[in-house]
Amino acid sequence: MRIVLLGPPGAGKGTQAQTLKQIFGIPHISTGDLLRQAVKEETNLGNQARAYMDKGELVPDELVTAMVAERLQRSDCASGFLLDGFSRTIAQADALAEELAHSGKKLDGVVSIMVPRADLVERLSGRRVCRECGAMYHERFDPPKRAGVCDKCQGVLYQRSDDNAETVSARLAVYERATAPLLSYYRDRALLYEIDGRGTPEEVCQRITATLKTAQAAHRS
Ligand code: ADP
Ligand code: ADP
Ligand code: ZN
Repeated sequence: MRIVLLGPPGAGKGTQAQTLKQIFGIPHISTGDLLRQAVKEETNLGNQARAYMDKGELVPDELVTAMVAERLQRSDCASGFLLDGFSRTIAQADALAEELAHSGKKLDGVVSIMVPRADLVERLSGRRVCRECGAMYHERFDPPKRAGVCDKCQGVLYQRSDDNAETVSARLAVYERATAPLLSYYRDRALLYEIDGRGTPEEVCQRITATLKTAQAAHRS
């Protein structure tokens, strides 16, 4: 399965990807995580990306597209992948389609997770992430057993620097302007599956899994 997870910041893409990668046995590739890692390691890419990320703007297409193309060439992507946070612009979507076409492949589906704006702001403002293992928590909706400490690895939880009120509204505006047009792009190509992202993570996961399994069966027949 080659899947793209689409949705505004805070929709639950990362949360869902954690479960979906196990169900479908495919690697989870988050461009946000790859970029944050590059920033931390102060690579050439990271140094270029940092200023955009701090402002909540998109990192230029050519940088992100090259990073993803390289990642997709690794052997673990041979049987599929779950892309989270890419594509985010029409140019990236075109580049992805082209990259896959080179090896005679194409996407199986694009899952758009839809959540009302007020909920997104609430989800982002309470998001906490483990510094060690990347596990995701929410201050109110999914708190760790001990405040500030990861249940899985005892790592320290932190708040992403771009999850502040000002940057969140910039990121939501960027989504509306640059990424939302991808909904009709993928709808036109009969790849779009729109999923209601409200309710518990388990409920949302059920909806996505049922939809993808139906799509998978249809592709096989
Ligand atoms: P969220 O999960 O909250 O939507 P991400 O972790 O996906 O956030 O992305 C964080 C930041 O990384 C974005 O605001 C943007 O600056 C950069 N980024 C991630 N993916 C892309 C992409 N495909 N194109 C351009 N910039 C990206
Ligand atoms: P994205 O990757 O789309 O930016 P995340 O998966 O990081 O979104 O989720 C954002 C925040 O919302 C996290 O703190 C997460 O724990 C929380 N969250 C995820 N799914 C749900 C849900 N269904 N209901 C309530 N909170 C959720
Ligand atoms: Zn952890």
